[in-house]
Amino acid sequence: MVIIQPTPFCNINCSYCYLPDRSNKHVISQSTVTKLFTELFASGWNNPDLTVLWHAGEPLAVPIAFYREAFAMIERLRPKDGPWPVRVKHSFQTNGMLIDEAWCDFFKEWNVGVGVSIDGPRELHDAHRKTRSGAGTFDKTITGVRRLRDTGYPFHILSVLGRASLEMPEEMLAFYVSEGIDHVCFNVEESEGDYVSDLFQGAELRQRYETFLRTFWHLARADGRVKFVREIDHALPRVFRPEGVRARNIQVEPLGMINVDSHGNVSSFSPELLGYKNADYGDFLLGNINRQSLAEIYRASVDSAFLRDIKKGVEACRAHCEYFSVCGGGAPVNKFFENGRFDSTTTSFCTLTQMVPTDLILEALDKFEQSLPDDSLATIAQPAASSAQPPRMP
Ligand code: SF4
Repeated sequence: MVIIQPTPFCNINCSYCYLPDRSNKHVISQSTVTKLFTELFASGWNNPDLTVLWHAGEPLAVPIAFYREAFAMIERLRPKDGPWPVRVKHSFQTNGMLIDEAWCDFFKEWNVGVGVSIDGPRELHDAHRKTRSGAGTFDKTITGVRRLRDTGYPFHILSVLGRASLEMPEEMLAFYVSEGIDHVCFNVEESEGDYVSDLFQGAELRQRYETFLRTFWHLARADGRVKFVREIDHALPRVFRPEGVRARNIQVEPLGMINVDSHGNVSSFSPELLGYKNADYGDFLLGNINRQSLAEIYRASVDSAFLRDIKKGVEACRAHCEYFSVCGGGAPVNKFFENGRFDSTTTSFCTLTQMVPTDLILEALDKFEQSLPDDSLATIAQPAASSAQPPRMP
């Protein structure tokens, strides 16, 4: 996966935003994008299906003409024939406020994946997602969402859950259904960079989130109109996977993710590390794609002090965590910002993204098995259970 910051600038100023440089209007140059993809395609290190996510600032603050030129150039560079053809899927994560007809046409033209950040109904959304002058952004965001919906363009919604929305799974579902939204993803407001969430200080967060997600998931499945809940639907194949196949975690692999800022600086591991200052870890940077080859950046990654410490954290997870087989060692950025070090294990983030979804899936499996007549368990549930590798329950 490649994550590119087209600009650090964002047209709004959410209270929980972790981006340190969001007033800076710098835009990545076409030559930087060209160098990046020339190097990447020559390396052959990418997957045949390559996702390019334009994020970390508001991507639609950069004109369509920029992307038209960049996408066409990437298309020219993309290996199309031979033994290793590459398919590229571009995606944007946007606050949705600038989506107009021209953007919809562009999305269609390039089959762009679109995620819109909206935190639920107006009162929940406007509590945190504000303009620089402090006004709510709900009206403009929902206009963008409706435009996508009315043109029939597929998209997903990303909602940050805070103290209030965690108590409102029914209202959140009713909101999505009323707006014709059928793919949803949740993030829980977290501590990253300079932003410290008061949510993560409470011992009862896990229980509150578990209650929210269980209620939302069960109601959504029963209703049928919200068809995809990322937290569960992405966890399912990690829990039920073929025997011997390990769940992959690209956040702990050198250049598993290539994260590039608008100046060409490259980092890896968790994308949120890009942009932070840290003397011990060289600001989490591995090089600059304008001045170094990808091979040099890879070597810097392998030799980096932060990979050394990230690996120690993964080994500690492997030794001590019941969920390691579905998680693979977590998100380094959350270990660093929550625990103060990479060579650590449990974070609130992994509790929410790994432990709670896994527990809910196993709970549902348990209930399903209990609902079956006794003699069907031997013929149906037993083979399924033996081919999966769910973690032991804690
Ligand atoms: S769930 Fe947390 S503690 Fe467990 S393996 Fe993942 S990151 Fe490590």
